[in-house]
Amino acid sequence: MARIGATGDGGCRRLALSDEDRQGRDRLLGWMRKIGLEVRIDKIGNMIGIYPGHTDAAPVMLGSHIDTVASGGKYDGALGVLAALETAETLRDAGISPRRPLAIIAFTNEEGSRFQPDILGSCVWTGDTSLDDAYRIVDSEGKSIGDELRRIGYLGDVEPGFLQPHAYLELHIEQGPILDAEGGGIGAVTGVQALWWSEINIEGEANHAGTTPMHYRRSASVAACRLVMIARALTDEIDGLVANVGRMAFDPGNVNVVPRRATMTLDLRHPDDATLSGAERSLATSIGEIERQERVVVECKDLARFAAQPFDSRIIQCVEESAKALDLNVRRMVSGASHDAQIMATVTPTAMIFVPSVKGLSHNPQEFTRDEDVVAGANVLLTTAIRLAEEA
Ligand SMILES: [Zn+2]
Repeated sequence: MARIGATGDGGCRRLALSDEDRQGRDRLLGWMRKIGLEVRIDKIGNMIGIYPGHTDAAPVMLGSHIDTVASGGKYDGALGVLAALETAETLRDAGISPRRPLAIIAFTNEEGSRFQPDILGSCVWTGDTSLDDAYRIVDSEGKSIGDELRRIGYLGDVEPGFLQPHAYLELHIEQGPILDAEGGGIGAVTGVQALWWSEINIEGEANHAGTTPMHYRRSASVAACRLVMIARALTDEIDGLVANVGRMAFDPGNVNVVPRRATMTLDLRHPDDATLSGAERSLATSIGEIERQERVVVECKDLARFAAQPFDSRIIQCVEESAKALDLNVRRMVSGASHDAQIMATVTPTAMIFVPSVKGLSHNPQEFTRDEDVVAGANVLLTTAIRLAEEA
């Protein structure tokens, strides 16, 4: 799969519904058919391959995505889909037909690099996003999802969500440094953390940077930088809180002018909704102090807000037990990134399995997971899938 859209530096570029995505899909389709799966493409292009069980009970769904960011790695997404395929192939080769069918799924546009928002295929699957709304989304060149699905031949005919799975399980690279730095092993993911993105506008007053005494200034840059430091201090006070200011701009932006305006973004995340709300309240109090002391006006506009999405405790435990049965180290952890699994978790019992990302690198051509960790993760997926597929 990594040969398709290879960027020559070890990375991959398979933007959703691009020609490279089509080639990746064609290859996946070929592999699904080769091992005898019954393949369905739904109306948002999600690809589903079904491995039969010996009953028609609700299937155990395994999967992830094969699209990548513009300069992505080999493992993000593709690992979960290919390991799911390997799970079905292993069962077939062993002549095992579990009680429940397996449904292997590759979701459309998980990354959101070409078409925003991200995790779209799963949102359409669960009905959070309507098909019509999804079709109308356009990329930076004005090409729509509906037209591009048709162009690459993956506008399918079955309704998204046509299967109600018994459980959903996703193997994924951690995309963070914790497992790699702390002795490797398997992550039994307990959920996806809550997120709040905000755009913050600070209004001060432009003035001469030489003639205006400090206590007469209303500097938007001083206020903005105080806010950065307050967010940093909050992460020391609140265990598990992460904060990022990824963009900051000053107007007019001259060396000798006190800026009248600062615009910045803030990304705040925590595994617990109430704790994140507490951090937001604390930040609001600090903003009030900054407004008074620096004589500026601060406005916050929400860009995105996602509640924490806990996974299913029974399936988390099942992942843990599977890892232990394979003599692997396993630790419970929260996902720092968004995944299709958090959307699936709203309609079916769900959990994720993480494997280490060397140095925590992801969305980067250098993204790497050792073969032994890939094998370990795939074996935990296989073992957990069999257990779930045998459930009454
Ligand atoms: Zn991913």
